[in-house]
Amino acid sequence: MNVLYQNPHEAQLLFGRGFRAGMDRREQKKLAAKNEKDMRDEFRKKEGVDEKPEEVAAQKLKEEAADLYDTFDMRVDRHWSEKKLEEMTERDWRIFREDYNISYKGSKIPRPMRSWEESKLTSELLKSVERAGYKKPSPIQMAAIPLGLQQRDVIGIAETGSGKTCAFVLPMLTYISRLPPMSEENEAEGPYAVVMAPTRELAQQIEDETVKFAHYLGIKVVSIVGGQSIEEQGFRIRQGCEVVIATPGRLIDCLERRYAVLNQCNYVVLDEADRMIDMGFEPQVMGVLDAMPSSNLKPENEDEELDEKKIYRTTYMFSATMPPAVERLARKYLRNPVVVTIGTAGKATDLITQHVIMMKESEKSYRLNRLLEEAGDKTAIVFVNTKKNADMVAKNLDKLGFRVTTLHGGKSQEQREISLEGFRTKRYNVLVATDVAGRGIDIPDVAHVINYDMPGNIEMYTHRIGRTGRAGKTGVATTFLTHGDSDVFYDLKQMLIQNNSPVPPELAKHEASKFKPGGIPDRPPRRNDTVFAH
Ligand code: ADP
Ligand code: MG
Repeated sequence: MNVLYQNPHEAQLLFGRGFRAGMDRREQKKLAAKNEKDMRDEFRKKEGVDEKPEEVAAQKLKEEAADLYDTFDMRVDRHWSEKKLEEMTERDWRIFREDYNISYKGSKIPRPMRSWEESKLTSELLKSVERAGYKKPSPIQMAAIPLGLQQRDVIGIAETGSGKTCAFVLPMLTYISRLPPMSEENEAEGPYAVVMAPTRELAQQIEDETVKFAHYLGIKVVSIVGGQSIEEQGFRIRQGCEVVIATPGRLIDCLERRYAVLNQCNYVVLDEADRMIDMGFEPQVMGVLDAMPSSNLKPENEDEELDEKKIYRTTYMFSATMPPAVERLARKYLRNPVVVTIGTAGKATDLITQHVIMMKESEKSYRLNRLLEEAGDKTAIVFVNTKKNADMVAKNLDKLGFRVTTLHGGKSQEQREISLEGFRTKRYNVLVATDVAGRGIDIPDVAHVINYDMPGNIEMYTHRIGRTGRAGKTGVATTFLTHGDSDVFYDLKQMLIQNNSPVPPELAKHEASKFKPGGIPDRPPRRNDTVFAH
């Protein structure tokens, strides 16, 4: 009855830019376009001007756009996994990246590959992937392989166990298979690709993974690591091989003594770059990189077009973290790199349950026995800080009847390989190790990591506990903490809080856990710190 309601007013939401919830957006958009036209018509009538042709055209465009606008509809749109590659929208790709926790930094980034079939790998390589039993690419492989195939420089940040090796091996083999085969003419010029890794064990593993795929292509792989005859290694390189996998110290030795040259090497991988820097290999790594032809470096100016026919040096760098020294290396040797980050860099995986137990040094031995007894047949790595401790702990466990072996820097290469092999094949189920085994070494199915000694810094802690909870499995990490470890109390407490793990009351209450050592709680960011946007 009220006149107010006889002529209800439809509010125009910001001239068509806003929407009402719960109504068809297309209808709303059409209505907005119509209202705008009505308004203009009315204005023209009043002013007595004619409609201009461009206005008519613009109006038409708008109406068409309204029809197309936001054709996405929650109710009818399918998940990206049900779509063909051509059907993928920008939004689907965003969800895809979120689903796999992939983030990028850089320009002109190619799409990740959703599956092996959609990759641009040759059918030969795809067959070898199938033979390896890799049903689906891992996230770092999805992101990094398309980049590598375009010869882009890549910085990959991903946890250990995420399949980084295969992510650089496949593009590397693709690159090599396009080059003329090694023959008497060119084998004296050295390998086509070099992979550097911090430790012998790691180099060994990379070799195994590379051979898996290279074998079928007839590509030869030689590893150049300490502890074996350098003359023989030099001989094997000169016999002709496409790929060299090396520790930086031994490789620079080989180069300086003229056992090897890198005159035609244009594909370089630095695996676990942060670890190589930690171990003091920066000068050797730079020495090796400087021994390669620099004429093939990509232009410094990133806008410059690359010549498709030319061969450029491609550099891949993997690292769990990006300390300033690694940044420095990247700035000097990588050109317009794409930074690929999987998950949160440096974060211990959520699949690991972390326990920290406060105790006295004298209680450790007894507590370890108890833990291992409870673990039964499961595999465990016990980390200690010194070789002496490793031998002592192993001896005690051996006396108690555990199947135990050791891995530390004091053992010969051969002994280390025997230990590792015995542990992999489960002849031993307990491995007592120093940090030689802390990084990169792939030992499947470790159910339990025990820090008999807490390491001196939180990064090493992260890497050690990363030996468990790999490839989607869950794991347990137990750490024996004493008051002597107070330098890391602060970081450890933060770590446990972040992972929703219980903080033992003695640690929570301890003065040293309340402030960062050095007395400055939470220092402000410095220029050289790298912060990755996700
Ligand atoms: P990272 O270098 O990231 O620590 P690795 O390259 O050593 O990881 O790979 C860890 C393990 O996962 C290896 O045993 C490897 O054979 C396996 N792996 C790698 N990629 C795949 C895949 N796509 N599917 C199944 N297993 C894989
Ligand atoms: Mg690795």
